[in-house]
Amino acid sequence: MNTTMIKKILNLFLKSNCPLCENPSDEYICSSCQRKLEDYRFNNCFRFWQGDLPVFIWGSYDGFLKLALARMKYDNYPQIGEEMGYFLAQSWLAQSFTSKIKNLVVVPIPLHPKKLQSRGFNQAEIIARGFCQLTGYSLELKGLLRVRETSPMFGLSREERSQNVLEAFTIGKSFLKRRPRDPILLIDDIYTTGTTVKEAAKILRFEGIEVLGVGAMATSKK
Ligand SMILES: [Zn+2]
Repeated sequence: MNTTMIKKILNLFLKSNCPLCENPSDEYICSSCQRKLEDYRFNNCFRFWQGDLPVFIWGSYDGFLKLALARMKYDNYPQIGEEMGYFLAQSWLAQSFTSKIKNLVVVPIPLHPKKLQSRGFNQAEIIARGFCQLTGYSLELKGLLRVRETSPMFGLSREERSQNVLEAFTIGKSFLKRRPRDPILLIDDIYTTGTTVKEAAKILRFEGIEVLGVGAMATSKK
């Protein structure tokens, strides 16, 4: 075997495999899968940035993006979430009015401790981490606390959804000690009807904390 061949083989081992297609890749998510994800990105991630609780959403909860989110959550690939946080941050920074916002406190929607234990990680927290790494905003993991276990939202009517998250959150330890001086950006992985984030924002605002809006990776909203 010549050295070029040895190098080639070594390189194959040194490269990690893309978690989405399992091909060897230099980047965590390979460039071909990144392009496939891009197909689901909204042309305007700020299309829902309006009203009482503006929402910034990266893409459509469909196809390859839906698959990637499921792979992260159910096949235990938390690092996919970090990459998604970078995507979210890139779109945030690409918009002139949001790129000018210098100070924000990013708060991921918490999981109930029981669910956190069974999954091992909170996907919203990992997305928020990636988002903050690129934007430089401060990350506050203990801004909110999930106090009540809720049933999965799928298949529930709008009214049942509201009942389901009613008093699901309370203000977390960090904010109890010291109210944040900067406005909050809530982060979640999937935005469905917004019932969960609205409830979270309500609790924070009730405590006199300013909430700017919500950032999410995907929505089925058209
Ligand atoms: Zn790939």
